[in-house]
Amino acid sequence: MKIADIYKSKSLTTSFEVFPPNDKVGLEQVYNCLDILSLEKPDYISVTYGAGGNTKGRTVEIADRIKRQNGLESLAHLTCIGAKKEEIDRVLEDLEKNNIENILALRGDYPVDRELEKGDFNYARELIEYIHKKKGDKFSIGAAYYVEGHRETNDILDLFYLKEKVNAGVDFLISQIFLDNEFFYSFRDKLEKLQINIPLVAGIMPVTNAKQIKKITSLCSCTIPKKFLKILEKYEDNPPALKEAGLAYAIEQVVDLVASDINGIHLYTMNKPETAKKIIDATGIIRHE
Ligand code: FAD
Repeated sequence: MKIADIYKSKSLTTSFEVFPPNDKVGLEQVYNCLDILSLEKPDYISVTYGAGGNTKGRTVEIADRIKRQNGLESLAHLTCIGAKKEEIDRVLEDLEKNNIENILALRGDYPVDRELEKGDFNYARELIEYIHKKKGDKFSIGAAYYVEGHRETNDILDLFYLKEKVNAGVDFLISQIFLDNEFFYSFRDKLEKLQINIPLVAGIMPVTNAKQIKKITSLCSCTIPKKFLKILEKYEDNPPALKEAGLAYAIEQVVDLVASDINGIHLYTMNKPETAKKIIDATGIIRHE
């Protein structure tokens, strides 16, 4: 089923994200994670596309497994930076062969440790146009957005480029992690004024250890609210308490978003199903409809 149709039929969706591992042991762990997550009956599960290159082939494999073995809809991420059209063509063929109907079309990040070979795409918008040109309406396409703006571009330009990206043929948008819902609400107002009316999904990552927060702040421009900083300071030497506090924070965030009519909650599971399950249990979002 196309995710565009899921958003048409439901006022609130719940989805999960997993990432492909580097080795066979990791693959078993992901499959185990998927088996647990699927019991929650989410609307779909997404699979990231490895920026480093060595896990790229696994995205389609895992997305296929989600459909066939877990009986759920899957969303395959696809990045284009540094890619030639031939590579994208191969992935599209593979997705089609496996009956995967949904793509999260992304640019990807520039690697910090090596030069990137010149590819055929500069921005996600070009990938979206390319997929539509090659495959028509075969795929339902989602894209990324940033409630605090993307770190490479100022806020206004970023909104302008987002509008261009959506106009290229995007059915839904999933956000980068944010920890302060007020950024989301003010961003949603701006999109309304720009007449961007497609479903906006909130990407929520329960921060359950100090390492994660460092990673988040280094990867994206995400403001750490005072309330959250206090939690970090209070519990940094007590990992179990920090885990519980981080989980409680994410639950509060989700409840507030649902009360404010969010279209969808997308949980970044980090391949750890227990935390996602606790959020589902505490918020009741899957039984919402
Ligand atoms: P774009 O929409 O292309 O935007 C990138 C930057 O370029 C922005 O600053 C934008 O304002 C600017 N821009 C756009 N068009 C133009 C233009 N015409 N001229 C000048 N500037 C322009 N990364 C992975 O490697 N694998 C994944 O699986 C993955 N999954 C993700 C899932 C989600 C939900 C999110 C939010 C991010 C994900 N990422 C992933 C990270 C993503 O690849 C990075 O955030 C990347 O830096 C931007 O990707 P994008 O698709 O948003 O890029």
